[in-house]
Order: sequence, then C-alpha cells, then structure tokens
Amino acid sequence: MKRAAPIVLSAPSGTGKTTLAHRLIEESDNCVFSVSITTRTPRQGEQHGLDYVFVDGDRFDKMIESGDLAEWAYVHGGRYGTPKKALNDAANLGQQVVLDIDVQGALQIRDAIPDAKLIFVLPPSVDVLLERLRIRGTEESEVLGLRLRSALEELEVALDFDYIIINEHLSDCVQEIRDIIEGKETVGLNSEAIESIEVCRAGITSILERDYQKVI
Ligand code: ADP
Ligand code: 5GP
Repeated sequence: MKRAAPIVLSAPSGTGKTTLAHRLIEESDNCVFSVSITTRTPRQGEQHGLDYVFVDGDRFDKMIESGDLAEWAYVHGGRYGTPKKALNDAANLGQQVVLDIDVQGALQIRDAIPDAKLIFVLPPSVDVLLERLRIRGTEESEVLGLRLRSALEELEVALDFDYIIINEHLSDCVQEIRDIIEGKETVGLNSEAIESIEVCRAGITSILERDYQKVI
C-alpha cells in the first residue's frame, strides 16, 4: 500500500488552521488528525486525547529521550510535539494524516519525511486575523501582542513552504487543500501569495508599533 504524504498546516495563530484541519477531517473519509502532545494547560472545552494529549514536563522529557517524537518545539512558552506513533499508525492504515503544527515543527517534519506537503496558511488581512483572535477570545491583550510578534517570525519562513494559501472562505480553502492532497494544485508559491506575505508582515508590524510597544 502506498503511504499518503503527510499534510502539514502552519499559520500565524488565529488564521484558522485548526478549524481547517478539523473541517478537512470531518469531510474526508480517509483523513486523520495527528493529535499532538503538549505541556500547555487545556483551554475550556478542549478534550484530552482529541485536541491534544496534555502532559507534564517530565513526561514530555521522557518522550523525547525515548525517541517517541517525530518533531517537537517550544511555542508560545509551552512545548508541543508530534508522536511518531500517530504518523506510523496512519501510514499503516493507508490514511492521510494532517498535522497542525508550528513552522519549526513543519521544517523538522520535512527533514524526517521529505515528501510531506508543507502548507502555510495566511489570513485574508491583518484586520481579519485580529477579528478572528478576538472572536475566539482565548488571548488576553498582552498575549495577543506576543502572538502577533511570533506571527512576524513565522512569516519569515513562509517562503520555505511548498504552498501558501489564504483562508478567506473556509469551504474554498478546504477545497484548495484537497486539491493539493490530490495533486491537482501544482502552483505552490505564486507572486500573489508572495505579495500577500509582505502585506501581512507590514500590517502586523504597524499594529505592533501602534498598540504593542511593550512586546517589540
Ligand atoms: P488557529 O488554529 O490558526 O490559531 P483557529 O482555527 O482557532 O485558528 O481559528 C481562529 C478563529 O477564526 C476561530 O474562532 C474560527 O472559528 C475562526 N475562523 C477560522 N477560519 C475562518 C474563516 N475562513 N472564516 C471565518 N472565521 C474563521
Ligand atoms: P495552541 O496552543 O494555540 O493550540 O497552539 C499553539 C501553536 O502550537 C500553534 O501554532 C500550533 O500549530 C502549534 N502546535 C500544535 N501542536 C504542535 C506540535 O505537535 N508540534 C509543533 N511544533 N507545534 C505544534
């Protein structure tokens, strides 16, 4: 049985990658979500084993030592990692695995699995990104500033990804990811996408300078 190349989604926080990953899985028979482990505390409504496997630092250390993780990284002060088992189980069952991980993890996955397809998701605009973060309501104002600062760092490596897509309308974006999975989407980084990165970077920089002097 041919193993399906893992799909890796990365994006600035609030862009919608978790929503996209879940929608993709709900609508496709053969897609499974790679449930990460993390040392961060659960948010309201998150379920252990479904959204993340929540562990303490000692357990995380042990998983690293035992070589159980395909990649791991510090993100926003917590540690996050992809269990190798999630990837192996999907491969053995012929399933398409979808990872929602940060850019550092995405690049580690590419080293470990060179045919993995790395997709960087952009918001349609910085205003929309801020609105989505506000609606989600999981960040305090200061943390929001830190998220935006991290977004700038993430945008720096977006050009190393195989594809850049914009999450404006959810269904269109899910379709675009499906096209990538099915090999129909051949244009990875077009000039429009590259320009969108620049616009996003400029927008975030000006908001940080205006509202978040403390975190820059
Ligand atoms: P991320 O995983 O990238 O941090 P989330 O998936 O948590 O982002 O999405 C952030 C918020 O934006 C959520 O409230 C989600 O419902 C909303 N959202 C995601 N995609 C869209 C979209 N295409 N249109 C409108 N709202 C969206
Ligand atoms: P959150 O805490 O908001 O769910 O996620 C914070 C960030 O960690 C997001 O960018 C998310 O994609 C990333 N993340 C989630 N799981 C993993 C993982 O297993 N490895 C890495 N490197 N990043 C992850």
